[in-house]
Amino acid sequence: MPVQLICPNLRCRKILSVPDEVRGKLVKCQFCQTSFRVPDARKPAATGAATAGASK
Ligand SMILES: [Zn+2]
Repeated sequence: MPVQLICPNLRCRKILSVPDEVRGKLVKCQFCQTSFRVPDARKPAATGAATAGASK
């Protein structure tokens, strides 16, 4: 199940879906090319956004 997180780049803030296997590793935002580490947590980064992975 993919992990959904928000790009930490404040000028981007896109919602990214990354494979579960990249937890704790560096990924690169496909929109702004910012590299960041995927948090190794079970909860998604819910920053105001409601349940990630809604019916869309
Ligand atoms: Zn980004």
